[in-house]
Amino acid sequence: MIDLERQDIKFLPGVGPQRAKLLGDELQIRTLHDLLYTFPYKHIDRTRLYYIHELTADMPYVQIRGQILSFDTEGEGRKRRLVAHFTDGQGVVDLIWFNGIKYVLSAYKTRTDYIVFGRPSVFNGRINIAHPDVDKADELRLNTMGLQPYYTTTDKMKRAGLNSRSIEHFTATLFERLDAGIPETLPPYLVSSLNLVSLDEALRHVHYPTSAEDLRKAQFRLKFEELFYIQLNIIKYARERRQKYRGYVFVRVGELFHTFYEKNLPFELTGAQKRVIREIRQDMGSGRQMNRLLQGDVGSGKTLVALMSILIALDNGFQACIMAPTEILAEQHYVTFQNLLFGMPVRVELLTGTVKGKRRQAVLDGLKDGEVRILVGTHAVLEDTVLFKSLGMVVIDEQHRFGVAQRARLWTKNSNPPHVLVMTATPIPRTLAMTLYGDLDVSVIDELPPGRKPIQTIHQFDNRRESLYRGLRSQLNEGRQAYVVYPLIKESEKMDIKNLEEGYEQLCRDLPEYKISRVHGKMKAAEKEAEMQDFISGKTQILVATTVIEVGVNVPNASVMVIENAERFGLAQLHQLRGRVGRGADQSYCILVTKYQLSADTRKRIQIMTETNDGFEIAEADLKLRGPGDLEGTQQSGVSFTLRLANLARDGQVLQLARETAEKVLDDDPHCAASKNDILWRQLNKLRDRTVNWGVIS
Ligand code: ADP
Ligand code: MG
Repeated sequence: MIDLERQDIKFLPGVGPQRAKLLGDELQIRTLHDLLYTFPYKHIDRTRLYYIHELTADMPYVQIRGQILSFDTEGEGRKRRLVAHFTDGQGVVDLIWFNGIKYVLSAYKTRTDYIVFGRPSVFNGRINIAHPDVDKADELRLNTMGLQPYYTTTDKMKRAGLNSRSIEHFTATLFERLDAGIPETLPPYLVSSLNLVSLDEALRHVHYPTSAEDLRKAQFRLKFEELFYIQLNIIKYARERRQKYRGYVFVRVGELFHTFYEKNLPFELTGAQKRVIREIRQDMGSGRQMNRLLQGDVGSGKTLVALMSILIALDNGFQACIMAPTEILAEQHYVTFQNLLFGMPVRVELLTGTVKGKRRQAVLDGLKDGEVRILVGTHAVLEDTVLFKSLGMVVIDEQHRFGVAQRARLWTKNSNPPHVLVMTATPIPRTLAMTLYGDLDVSVIDELPPGRKPIQTIHQFDNRRESLYRGLRSQLNEGRQAYVVYPLIKESEKMDIKNLEEGYEQLCRDLPEYKISRVHGKMKAAEKEAEMQDFISGKTQILVATTVIEVGVNVPNASVMVIENAERFGLAQLHQLRGRVGRGADQSYCILVTKYQLSADTRKRIQIMTETNDGFEIAEADLKLRGPGDLEGTQQSGVSFTLRLANLARDGQVLQLARETAEKVLDDDPHCAASKNDILWRQLNKLRDRTVNWGVIS
């Protein structure tokens, strides 16, 4: 038996060291196993041959058979192209190449039978096929085969003559060598009871189906397996955790909670806030460790829920900690907590990277002797020097910014793991939540505090500055404030900051009557802080910023959010940014500024934004548009998505089946002792090794 996972791709006939390096660098194909699991992104029916006189420019792909009559080169310089006049004996069509001319001239001959495959188009008033696939007719085993696989390739590969067709040849060669069959990765009893095809058949047919039905069955089996192992892992882990750890029992809802509720609470809680606090109270009193995800749209009032849950921990004699992803946000929570707890005997301290020296030591000492009851901080709270007397409750705000490993470190701060509340404003569709957070309980705040007016979202092209300024002025003159946000991504950071600086200068010139702050990631922390503070305190009216403000900032007086280059933001991000306004009772506006020419996807995104304020609707749309791998937050969530086939937007039913099956397996075999399931644990371990932190949350 060939060890597929160990066997280097370079030893496969036809590959060799150079192509192996390209395959590895460009597509992460390094072993035979990688090749098997690199699935075609589409198949094309190659059973039909057309006559040249049948071709029209609106046909998608066509296949013709014939010979090259002669070659010509036409045009000069960059417009130079190679034309092959191709005939099937009845008509003539031009095949055109704009590059790779030397290769084509050496590879293709006149008076040889070829099968040509490509997309007809019109050029200089005549039908032609640009950059077609050309195969010798007698070598093409494809026309007997039906559906031909198409594999993703990169420009670099194409330049080296390594195309989809090459990969097709490699997989075909590999399957021939695997005639003894590919070993099964699911227990036979599951394969048969669920009516799945074998792994061997599934892999062969996912590359080389003989019919659409074959392909569907193969894909179903592979999708099921992907989702099943993720679910098995999550559920197994969750059950073990429940057995192993007993949570602190917080039975008392005591003085602090009541005092706060009666004296300090500045407004009536919304129904949703009340319900969630009840759910959290129940969890913390149950004797099992709470691991709860709190979802609530931006502005739904999660901070208050966090604080009240923390007070329950305090009332039971424990300390609590809330962790935020940025310094600005941590500081804001710190101030909010101090204000909300005004007059109450609760010492709150702040710990971030900028808290140093004596101040830091005082905080650390206070934590150790239990004087500090609530710690608000950034990643800094994870450091080894930060020790608590009795940490009973941890809140993690805007969880997607934290990796799993970081969260796991919080557990070690105590002999018994504290209760954990993870808060996120990124609404996660149910299918995704099941996959990502299968072992977390989920609470949802699905109601905004009363009196909020829905934000009006307007799309504007960037050549219409005047009307943008008019809108801005009218809001600013009423005493409101405005954000102007620029995109920032690592790859183009320099350009992005230049854009922001230029935008800032332009605003200063065009709106001289207002004071303007500016923040971006390249500024020193202290400088950033000062600029932010000016805006928060109302000293400045406009804040020009990169997405550092994306998460969590709360300035209720701000009523305008201008997003420059909105085409460069994803839906989730746009929604987050928009959530910075509309926090007071006034009508707020979000202006999406884009260039004039937009791709279809972008137009769709902008349209969704202008049509709805509902975070869940937006998340569903996002999942459909982009696929789960890209969904905001999933990359950082620590669950590496090894989904190659399953699509969480479309395969909800497969996921459901996978989950139910995993639950059943563990119900029947709770100690993982049945020999019929050995293969499951072996496979699970293999998958775990391959991807660190696979499916383990908090
Ligand atoms: P998020 O869920 O986005 O973290 P916040 O906790 O920052 O939202 O709350 C947004 C704003 O709503 C804050 O100004 C907060 O004081 C206010 N708020 C929270 N709960 C209520 C409520 N029940 N009634 C009125 N305003 C509330
Ligand atoms: Mg928040």
